[in-house]
Amino acid sequence: MLFPYTYVPHQMEKMQEFVDYIFFEVWCNAPTVGTFGLHLFDYKIELREVMEAFYYSDKNNADFFYGHVERIFQGFSNLNQKQIRRLKWWYCSNNNIEQLCTNHSGNHATRHSDIESKFPAIARDIRMFFVGLYDFDASAMKKKTGDIGDHYKQFVNTNDSGTCPFCGISDLLGGNHTKREAYDHYMPKTIYPFNSINFKNLVPACHHCNSSYKSSKDTAFSPKDPCGLQVRRKVFYPFSTQPYSISLQVLIRHADHEKLTTADISLSFGPPELDEQIATWKEIYSIEERYRAKLCGSDAKAWVVEVMDEWRWHEESAGADGRAPEAYLQAVARHTAKSPYTNENFLKYGFLQACKAAGTFG
Ligand SMILES: [Zn+2]
Repeated sequence: MLFPYTYVPHQMEKMQEFVDYIFFEVWCNAPTVGTFGLHLFDYKIELREVMEAFYYSDKNNADFFYGHVERIFQGFSNLNQKQIRRLKWWYCSNNNIEQLCTNHSGNHATRHSDIESKFPAIARDIRMFFVGLYDFDASAMKKKTGDIGDHYKQFVNTNDSGTCPFCGISDLLGGNHTKREAYDHYMPKTIYPFNSINFKNLVPACHHCNSSYKSSKDTAFSPKDPCGLQVRRKVFYPFSTQPYSISLQVLIRHADHEKLTTADISLSFGPPELDEQIATWKEIYSIEERYRAKLCGSDAKAWVVEVMDEWRWHEESAGADGRAPEAYLQAVARHTAKSPYTNENFLKYGFLQACKAAGTFG
């Protein structure tokens, strides 16, 4: 991830607050409290109002919510305290998104397959409930939580670069558009159901990053090797408050930019202390494929033409002193240092440096 987002608090976090209450106070107490009923929500008034509305409603979404909460409660009522403790740990682990991303030693990245193997009787309902929560649309709940469109407006008001931070080469719809980008479940909800509505796990991303490349790849584990094994890995935390900067060095094999192919381009990223996060980022979003394609495309050709045109203009107007390309590259370096992710400056600068080293400019 080229740069992190700033986290924006919003009323929608109330949904997570409700689900935390349901998990810890209702389900985890199921073995000791006896029968399920609205009285279990007495200490969370707003949630009780929602549950009551769903109880008396005959709509499908009301049934979905109330029915799953009750069924999972019944499943929990058959568990012993050791099992409840394990589920609490797994739930807390998966909702600490920062620790999940940094592969913190005390954190257990709990996948649906873990729940299925240890808790087969409730795994399916847990998955259905949490996966369905993200698209859950009921007026009784919206009255308490607001809606995602309003969250997006506030989000892009704060995060207003207009550039997708996962690739740096696509724009994001912002406050002047009537449409919005989709939210990506950074830890995919089908693999990590417990954090499906945690806003630290919900990140707007461009269509290519979200749908074409990342899709439901397992962010926290490497792809399967030929033996089917996966290893836990670090990944950038999307709301990191630790400043960092990713460097990019481009090398090209020959000077003829018109005949450049993706095989002629090599890319290296830094700094070394972020190697693991960078490797994950490159794999998830196919960064190298996309950057190489970009550097063989019309934008990169236009960057070279810009340098050449400036040079010719200087030759004609001020004499051939041979310094114009260098002066132009210095201007690009200044723009890049100031705004690396505007107009793909970081790629443009890296590419033009590579062209210069290969002799494209003579
Ligand atoms: Zn993107």
